Amino acid sequence: MEAKHDVLIVGAGLAGMRAAIEAFDAGADVALISKIHPVRSHSGAAEGGINAALGNASEDDPEKHAFDTVKGSDYLGDQDAIQVLCDEAPGDVYQLEHWGAVFSRTEDGRIAQRPFGAAGEPRTAYAADITGHVLIHVLYEQVMKRDLAVYEEWFAWKLVEDEGRCQGVICWDLLNGGLKMVGAKTVILATGGAGRLYTGTTNAYSCTGDGMAMALRMGVPLKDMEMMQFHPTTLSPSGVLITEGCRGEGAYLLNSEGERFLVRYAPNAMELASRDVISRAEQTEIDEGRAIDGNVLLDLRHLGADRIIERLHGTRELSMVFAGVDPIHEPIPVRPGAHYHMGGIDTDVDGKTVLEGLYAAGECACVSVHGANRLGGNALMETITYGKRSGRAAAEWALANTVVAPPESALTDAEQKLQALLDRTDGERPHAIRDEMAETMHENFGVFRREDQMRRQGEIVAGLLERYENVVVEDKGSVFNSDLTQALELEFLLELASCMVEAGLARRESRGAHARPYDYPNRDDESFMKHTLVTWADGRPQLTWEPVRVTKWQPQERTY
Ligand SMILES: Cc1cc2nc3c(=O)[nH]c(=O)nc-3n(C[C@H](O)[C@H](O)[C@H](O)COP(=O)(O)OP(=O)(O)OC[C@H]3O[C@@H](n4cnc5c(N)ncnc54)[C@H](O)[C@@H]3O)c2cc1C
Repeated sequence: MEAKHDVLIVGAGLAGMRAAIEAFDAGADVALISKIHPVRSHSGAAEGGINAALGNASEDDPEKHAFDTVKGSDYLGDQDAIQVLCDEAPGDVYQLEHWGAVFSRTEDGRIAQRPFGAAGEPRTAYAADITGHVLIHVLYEQVMKRDLAVYEEWFAWKLVEDEGRCQGVICWDLLNGGLKMVGAKTVILATGGAGRLYTGTTNAYSCTGDGMAMALRMGVPLKDMEMMQFHPTTLSPSGVLITEGCRGEGAYLLNSEGERFLVRYAPNAMELASRDVISRAEQTEIDEGRAIDGNVLLDLRHLGADRIIERLHGTRELSMVFAGVDPIHEPIPVRPGAHYHMGGIDTDVDGKTVLEGLYAAGECACVSVHGANRLGGNALMETITYGKRSGRAAAEWALANTVVAPPESALTDAEQKLQALLDRTDGERPHAIRDEMAETMHENFGVFRREDQMRRQGEIVAGLLERYENVVVEDKGSVFNSDLTQALELEFLLELASCMVEAGLARRESRGAHARPYDYPNRDDESFMKHTLVTWADGRPQLTWEPVRVTKWQPQERTY
C-alpha cells in the first residue's frame, strides 16, 4: 500500500479542496487525489457567479433564497438540505472573501450581486465573468498553505471496501504508470459532473462521472439520474458556455424572425426564467423552424460596448474565438447544451452515503438541493457549503474510528483486471463507442423525451456496454497513457447512461429537466413527489424510490 490517511478526497475542484481544508483544520491527516492539476478542474471554468443572500443589492434573506431554490427544483429538492445551503451560504461566501477572493464590488465597496435566472432578488456574487477561476485559485492557495498531500495526476479507478466500510482507493499513476492503493478511514468523492455523456456539452473533457460510477459499483445508490440540465446558452457549434450573467445584465433571446420569443413562454421573467423553461422554449423554436442553422440568437448589443467589456469580457472573447462573432456588433448563436447533473451519489446533509466511511460532495453528489432543475449560481455555492460539511463530518468520523486496513487482495484483483484489458489486442477502439453514446444520448435523452426514444436508447446503451467488453487499448505504455484512462472513463459513462435511461423511463411525468410533452405533459405530485434511486445488480440498473423531504413549502404551480 502506498500510504494511509484519515480523510482521502478524490477530486480537487471546489468541492474537494473545500472539504480538504475543513478536514485538515478539524485535525485530520488529509490527502487529495486528482486526475488533473487541481486548478484545471472544471470548477475553474465557472463564469457567472455564486448565490448567497448577502442582501447587498436588495432586501434579501436566506428564506427567499430557499423558496426560489425549492420552486426552481420543481419541488423535487429536499427542503431540509436547501435550507442548510441557504442559511450557511452568506457566511461561507464571506469566508472565501477573507481568504482573498476578489469579488466584483458595489459603488460603496460591498460584494456586488447580479440578477440570475429564477431568483427573486439579485443574489449572485461574482468576480466579473471568471468567478470559478478566482475561487479555485483562492482555495488552491489555502490547500498549499496547509500540510496536506496532493496526489496529482493520479486516476482513481476503484473504491476499496472491507468489513462493510470504505477503506481506500485504487488509482492509476498517470506519470509513472502502475496501480497504487491508498488506504483511508474515510473517502470523500468530489469528482464533479458527467457532461461528456453528450456531444454538445459545456463540460470539460474531464467530466466523465467517475465518482458516481465508482460509488454505484460499491452498491451505493445514485439519485435522480434522469435530471440532466440543459443550459440554454451554449455556443454553436462548440458547446462552450455563454454565461447566464449575460441575461442577468439584460441580454435578449431572439428567434429567426427577430422576436423575443420568451414572451410566449415566460411573459413575466422573460430571459430570466429558469433554465429548463428557456431550454424548452428554444428547442420548440428550433423544432418549429424559427431558428438559424439550428440556433437562436443572444443579443447583447443594446448593453453597449463599455458594459460588455467591463462585466462580460470573457464572454466576448469566447464568442470571438469560438464563433467568430463580436457581441458588441452581432448577436451570438446559441442553443441548449448538456450542462449540469442534478442527480448523483445519494447523500445526507453531511455528505454521508449508505456505505460507512464514504462521503460525496459537489456535482457528483445529490443531497438534493437542485431537485429537477438547478438555479444558476447554486452549484458553486453547493460545492463550498457541502464540501465544507462533508470535510468536517468525514474528519470527525475518521478521528473517532482508528483502524484502517484495506486488504492487499483488492489491489491484486484490480491489477489482474487491468492487465486483462491491456493484454487484449483484438477488438474495437473506444472512440467509436464513445461517439455513438454521446450522439444518441443527445438525440434520445435530450431536452424533450419520448417513451419510444428512451426505450431505444436503453437498448443502444446495453449494446454499447456489450461492445465495451471487447474494447482495445492500443497504447500499452505506462507514461501518460490517456488511451487507457479514456477507456476506463468510457465504462463509467456507459453505466451512468444506463442508469439515466432507466430512471427516465420510470418517471412518468414532466418535472424540471425531465420533459415528456408527448405522453405525460404535466407534473404529477400525487405519484411522483419522490426521488429515483438506482443501484447496479446483475450487470444492469435496478430502480427504487424515496420520498422528497418537504418541510414547509407545499408544491405549487410553477410559472415565471
Ligand atoms: C462552463 C461551466 C460554467 C459554470 N458556471 C457556473 C456558475 O457560474 N455558477 C455556478 O454555480 N455553477 C456553475 N457551473 C457548475 C459548477 O461550476 C460545477 O457544478 C462545479 O464547479 C463542480 O465542482 P466540483 O468540485 O464538484 O467538480 P469539478 O470542479 O469538476 O472537479 C472534479 C475533480 O475531480 C477530479 N476527478 C474526477 N475524476 C477523477 C478520477 N477518476 N480520479 C481522480 N480525480 C478525479 C478532477 O481531477 C477534478 O479535480 C458551471 C459549469 C460549467 C461546466
